[in-house]
Amino acid sequence: HVSLEILDVGHSYSGQVALRDVNLEVSRGELVSIVGPSGCGKSTLLRCVAGLTRPGRGRVVVGGAEVSGVPDDLAVVSQDYSRSLLPWLTVRDNVALPLRRRGMPKESRRAAAGQALDAVGLSASARRYPWQLSGGMQQRVSIARALAFRPSLLLMDEPFGSVDAQTREELEDLLLRVRDEGMTILFVTHDIDESVYVGDRVAVLSRAPGTVIADLPVDLPAE
Ligand code: ADP
Ligand code: ADP
Repeated sequence: HVSLEILDVGHSYSGQVALRDVNLEVSRGELVSIVGPSGCGKSTLLRCVAGLTRPGRGRVVVGGAEVSGVPDDLAVVSQDYSRSLLPWLTVRDNVALPLRRRGMPKESRRAAAGQALDAVGLSASARRYPWQLSGGMQQRVSIARALAFRPSLLLMDEPFGSVDAQTREELEDLLLRVRDEGMTILFVTHDIDESVYVGDRVAVLSRAPGTVIADLPVDLPAE
């Protein structure tokens, strides 16, 4: 498992500054929520960490090594879940696909995919195709795929946006359990309650161009 350092990261799109001097350190096994107004650069920041966008300034260091290109021990759950599932594969095969990168044999891949689908409440849909499912179900499939992969670093961009309230609570608790196994997680949301419930810390980005204006520990009272 890895730690993450975001060091003086800045990024512009054709001269328009989206991110400015972002500094954030995340320890291994820590979940940091990122909140901030729409357009402040949250998705851009995740893309920089994922190696999908090369930041114009600064550095991203994962597990001691500077990110250049997409790290292989990373999973991303984006807002845009419907585009991330392959329509010609069943739900189970979509979830199992990245496990090949781990060199996992086929039978184990299927078993791991089955378990992850069970965890998100979709075992009954394993043999269906993504386009046969509702948006919220597709989103759960992409979450199951990330969880089955067991990455050291998990990046989530509004991952529970289109799931119903009860499922959302179940998924939040599931996320806390994987965090407890030592996964390092960045979790973007614009729901303040959610940021506090799942986060060990909450980093607040300013209005665009986004920079970290507060980085707060969360200390929820025991129930
Ligand atoms: P957030 O996720 O906080 O809503 P984004 O990272 O999506 O913010 O966007 C930050 C700013 O950068 C916004 O002004 C947005 O319009 C702009 N932006 C994002 N992606 C691109 C892009 N590919 N090309 C040009 N501008 C972009
Ligand atoms: P199964 O035999 O259970 O369907 P596999 O993991 O062997 O599972 O492959 C499932 C399907 O995924 C196959 O049709 C294969 O062509 C397709 N496939 C495998 N790897 C990739 C990939 N990297 N990108 C897109 N499709 C892939």
